Amino acid sequence: MMGRWQKGFLNLFGKKSFSHGIHPPEHKMQTSHLPIRRMAFPPIFHIQLEQHIGKPAIPIVTKGQEVLRGEVIARADGFVSVPIHAPATGIIKEIALRPTVHGPKAPTIILEPYVADGQAVMVDDPVDMELLSNKEFVQRVQDCGLVGLGGAAFPSHVKLAVPEGTKIDTFIANGCECEPYLTTDHRVMLEYTDDLIKGTLMCMKNVGAKRAIIGIEDNKLDAAEVIRDRLPEDSPIEVAVLKTKYPQGADKMLMKALLGREVPAGVRSYKYGVVSNNVGTLAYMGRLLERGEGLIERVITVAGPGVERPGNYIVSIGTPLKYLLEQAGAKVNQAEEVIMGGPMMGHAVASLDIAITKSTSGVIVFDEAAIKSETRKTYPCIKCGECVSVCPIHLNPSMLGQLAAKRQFDVMADKYHLNDCFECGCCTYVCPSNIPLVQYFRVAKAVNREQAAQQ
Ligand code: SF4
Ligand code: SF4
Repeated sequence: MMGRWQKGFLNLFGKKSFSHGIHPPEHKMQTSHLPIRRMAFPPIFHIQLEQHIGKPAIPIVTKGQEVLRGEVIARADGFVSVPIHAPATGIIKEIALRPTVHGPKAPTIILEPYVADGQAVMVDDPVDMELLSNKEFVQRVQDCGLVGLGGAAFPSHVKLAVPEGTKIDTFIANGCECEPYLTTDHRVMLEYTDDLIKGTLMCMKNVGAKRAIIGIEDNKLDAAEVIRDRLPEDSPIEVAVLKTKYPQGADKMLMKALLGREVPAGVRSYKYGVVSNNVGTLAYMGRLLERGEGLIERVITVAGPGVERPGNYIVSIGTPLKYLLEQAGAKVNQAEEVIMGGPMMGHAVASLDIAITKSTSGVIVFDEAAIKSETRKTYPCIKCGECVSVCPIHLNPSMLGQLAAKRQFDVMADKYHLNDCFECGCCTYVCPSNIPLVQYFRVAKAVNREQAAQQ
């Protein structure tokens, strides 16, 4: 019978992946070797009520109220929503509209921390996780305010709430982190290894999976080795090393790469016997669930040519972007571009008056020189088919692009599966005519959504 090391060795040579996709320059060397360190509290917090996919939380505090670090300040609004906890002990200054990464202003709790306070986290309700029923476990994940920390920010408890009787054979821990520049998950796997294993075991038990696979790309072999080293010989968790390829970090791509199972767009993966979660989220589950603490901070990669002190920082939720940039030594004026998230799927910020949310996996700053080298003229489509050959879900981006130019957004959705596009940006990346295809698709989806809402 093969031992753990032999299996790991074979894994390195029989590396799996999915079809199509791209290999953009990784740019991870700037921060991948830098240990996680804590960023100081800002003088003021801007805590957006809209922190994730789903319904924004509802505030339960008022102006002038004192709050303790870790206390719930906004409650979940229904099932696809999570509460928000105070990132610091202090006083609520106001609840006001503030800009968001997506543009429009949204309700935000403004909190001023007490400078002289010890800032201990208010520990709520420690329990023995072994004693919780599946329903209680899911409730606890929601109560701790956990969302997917890989960037998608889908409430974690919703992913774990599989209908009774569903057979889940595999739990996947997603450690691909395929976006250029980002090294958050890499450092979490190296430094929060025991928390990751603990969180993975808890989730496996909850969904009834007999095995778990931690999927890691081959540009993070040190993380794979550290985790393998910590797992006992008879562990139900295995580590699989995959070929580095973008966008393997998308759950459905990873599932295809690891298990060969293809999940159609709009269908939940549990219907195919799999539940998955990002490694960072699992590590925070391992850290927080037992003690019943809320998610009040996260690890963020701050990198790019415009950053003097790049790194992987523990940043409190609600930290203003301007303060974070200042701490990381990024002087931003009009010549620079700031991306929240990775450069492929992240968003260029329209205002620096936004703040860090639970969904912020990275902040990337491009300086004037980097922007100039990327700014290229757009030409007509030459029908080369490059975009078709890289689309990981086998759409026809060329045709979608032409329909977008004619504003035939309804045809894009009805005949060419626009809504299946998960905006990975592979098509834009390879297009020799520099057509901003993914931007076209975002606009088309937004227009269709607006029209559907008016009907
Ligand atoms: S952005 Fe959409 S259309 Fe373009 S490659 Fe990705 S999934 Fe395909
Ligand atoms: S890659 Fe660009 S130029 Fe080539 S077919 Fe697609 S849209 Fe046209």
